[in-house]
Amino acid sequence: MDHHRYERLLNATLGKPGRLRESYMSRNHPGLLAEINEYSAGDDLPFPQRVWHWAQAVKKRPLCTCGKPTTFNKNWLEGYRPYCSSACSLRSDQTKDKRKATIIEKYGVDNVAKNEQIKARTKETNLERYGHESSASGHSSATKTGANGTAGQGNKGGNGSSGTSYSRT
Ligand SMILES: [Zn+2]
Repeated sequence: MDHHRYERLLNATLGKPGRLRESYMSRNHPGLLAEINEYSAGDDLPFPQRVWHWAQAVKKRPLCTCGKPTTFNKNWLEGYRPYCSSACSLRSDQTKDKRKATIIEKYGVDNVAKNEQIKARTKETNLERYGHESSASGHSSATKTGANGTAGQGNKGGNGSSGTSYSRT
């Protein structure tokens, strides 16, 4: 999807898909219509289809996996169907399932096994590295320094007043 083109379409139709008709466009946006038509010039396509090609910036008509052309959905936003027939769609689903199965067979199990190996290895190194250390670090820093009880004997009596001299100038 060419987002710029898509936005222009939205603006031209004011967001109302029903307005996206050739008559409306030729009346209100002849320039845009010309551009759309030019894009798939030569191909005698219905208007929604022309819009799709232009908005998607796709010149070629999409083909089914079997090579046949696929049919166009009525709505230009939905575009072409991915397959020409239900038979092709079914066959493709089967291929997908088969491919998935092979990947699991080939890589899935292998990956899991590797993961287990890595996990086991890290566990070992952790034990080696931190196992002793963590068990040896049992010294709690709980040597509470007791309150030194040499307080409370306040030296009352302010004897050491060294002359409160109110010096006047
Ligand atoms: Zn097909």
